[in-house]
Amino acid sequence: MKRLFLVLALFLAFFLTACRLSPATPLAETPPPLPLPQEGEPAPPREPEKVTQWPPVAVLMYHQLGDPPPGHPWPELYVSKDAFAAQLDWLDREGFHPVTLKEVLTAWREGRPLPDKSVVITFDDGYASTVQVGLPLLQAHGFPAVLFLQGNLLNRAGAVSDAMVRTWLEAGMELGSHTMRHLDLTRASEKDLEAEVVGSRSFLETTFDIPVLTFAYPAGRADDRARSMVEQAGYEAAFTTRSACARAEDDPFLLPRLRVNGSDSLEAFARKVSCHP
Ligand SMILES: [Zn+2]
Repeated sequence: MKRLFLVLALFLAFFLTACRLSPATPLAETPPPLPLPQEGEPAPPREPEKVTQWPPVAVLMYHQLGDPPPGHPWPELYVSKDAFAAQLDWLDREGFHPVTLKEVLTAWREGRPLPDKSVVITFDDGYASTVQVGLPLLQAHGFPAVLFLQGNLLNRAGAVSDAMVRTWLEAGMELGSHTMRHLDLTRASEKDLEAEVVGSRSFLETTFDIPVLTFAYPAGRADDRARSMVEQAGYEAAFTTRSACARAEDDPFLLPRLRVNGSDSLEAFARKVSCHP
């Protein structure tokens, strides 16, 4: 009897287990095959598209920072410290990006983008006020600028000294040539033209041990002969005083600039920088 009970219990256990594993249990769906890894090298990162069109760039031209002495024949060349400070504040507030000439020329040459609202700040001749008044204000905003230095003004009274130019360069500012003697290059002899254009470049490069790649014509006066000499001398760009914003398609050796006058209101300054005629 006991044995019969054990056989029945075993049979029951087997029957229940078989039921649980019946084919009625749904089968899991077959997962799709995994994609096979591609053969060969991973694809190189795609080259960014080259820029072929840039908005015009306002290249601003300053001379003296401060108030003109009474009776000065060209008071417009003096922009007061307060006016200059207000102009830099305005540029900052309005989202302009002062850039170096090197940045502009490299972008144009290599098809790279420039920051929105790019603008270039330049000073001519080499007055001490450029470094003494201008540099601290520029640095407060983190703005770069360019000094076009007339070689024979260096270390003269009221002009920049060697030490000031070094301070300027160490602050990340740029240096370009504005000839040696500020001659009208359209009327200079061949010998003088060479001394002013080629000579000033080697003088600045030797004195400050940097490459000098930009040039500003005295009083903006240029002709074919002066332009050719500037190109042959190894500069990359040169500036006149033709009043317009600079464009990538302009002749790089006859680029325009916008003069900032002492009497300019902030509205007049804003119109110039925004490249509105
Ligand atoms: Zn000048």
